[in-house]
Amino acid sequence: MLTVNRDGLTLDKFVPFVTICIEFQAISMKVKSKNVSAQFSAIEWFARVELAACYRLADIFGFSDVIWNHITSKIPGTEHFLINRFGFRFDEVTASNLVTIDLEGDVIESGSGTSAEDINLTGFVIHSAIHAARPDITCVMHTHSKAGMVVSALKHGLVPMTIDAMPFYNRVAYHDFEGLSVDLGERTRLAKALGDKNAMILRNHGLLTCGKDVSEAFMKMYYLERACEVQLRAQATGQDIHLPTSDICEKTAMQSNQFSHGAYEWPALLRLVDKKCPDYKE
Ligand SMILES: [Zn+2]
Repeated sequence: MLTVNRDGLTLDKFVPFVTICIEFQAISMKVKSKNVSAQFSAIEWFARVELAACYRLADIFGFSDVIWNHITSKIPGTEHFLINRFGFRFDEVTASNLVTIDLEGDVIESGSGTSAEDINLTGFVIHSAIHAARPDITCVMHTHSKAGMVVSALKHGLVPMTIDAMPFYNRVAYHDFEGLSVDLGERTRLAKALGDKNAMILRNHGLLTCGKDVSEAFMKMYYLERACEVQLRAQATGQDIHLPTSDICEKTAMQSNQFSHGAYEWPALLRLVDKKCPDYKE
């Protein structure tokens, strides 16, 4: 049994409900639901539909990891954010079964479903760290994709060798692995490592992207994931790799970041998810 380190935060409210069960590879945090209301505001419902679409797209594009990993989205005008219910695969996430929590991990709205009071502790630690530190960020996406994990384990990390990698030139943060993210004290270090960047490689762990909305976080992850995958293929050839100059990398990053990732792609992506799995809106 692990002990949750409570440095820096009052976790008393969690204590009776914290369950960490390595035997079943389940790290879950049970908290009492306030069950405020099953009725969602129009703003919250829109946020739920957008985020549910993002989960389905992440699954379609191969970013999911059975029941692990999270994509979270802040509900505009609140300090609350939406997260997938623990135990649900990405392809099972719907607008109504997302869970609304606050920055302390209290469940504000448990949504629909049969395991309504479960959220993942590691997901809460990582995502609440970013939501608390970065009010300019609405959506945080974290993956354990194979290519992302391999690059996260490389000493030199992401190399700006392709057009997909160059937007991240000097714009990707790194956070050293501290073990499973069950220590709330890690939140400070995660936020400090990210700083004002919108992409981070969690060393020996995976990838994380942020966006002012769901579409931006998704497309940043799409490009970061592709950059990692192509880098590994290039390095696997064993041949010398031609790298652009630092000036060209910087120029490309500036060009790429002049427009918002996701703004143009999101309508097309929504058409894809509407076609493949329209039940995400339920
Ligand atoms: Zn992770």
